[in-house]
Amino acid sequence: MDDAAAVWRENTSQVSPSDAKTAQLMERLERLLREAAEVEVELSRANGSIKGVPHYSVIEGRAHELGQRLSREVQQRQMRKVVASQPVTGKCPGCGTRCELQPFRRDVNSVDGVLPFQELVGDCPRCRRSFFPATGDVGV
Ligand SMILES: [Zn+2]
Repeated sequence: MDDAAAVWRENTSQVSPSDAKTAQLMERLERLLREAAEVEVELSRANGSIKGVPHYSVIEGRAHELGQRLSREVQQRQMRKVVASQPVTGKCPGCGTRCELQPFRRDVNSVDGVLPFQELVGDCPRCRRSFFPATGDVGV
């Protein structure tokens, strides 16, 4: 074993499982982003939305649209995790009555477009009003 191999082996043995998982996920994300970019280029040529030598603004516009779609997908998945981690009951902000929370679909206007997601809503029988305990915490 040469010195470089010894150093490599020493370094890899010190990688924690969470660091290894993070590195694996980052590598996977890089691969998927490259693949998405390749598919987008092939698709734009196959469906004729980009032909020959287009104006750069056409290339940029399609690329930006793809980025916005990815952003919306990420936002929806993150919000699903937020909702899944919420308690199933919440206190009414008006009177403090603990109420059962139910899933509710709502459209959110993000900087990358409108996206639907589920959030939890409580209906207070005393105040006769609905409240959204989760949304106040996450800023939507
Ligand atoms: Zn109430």
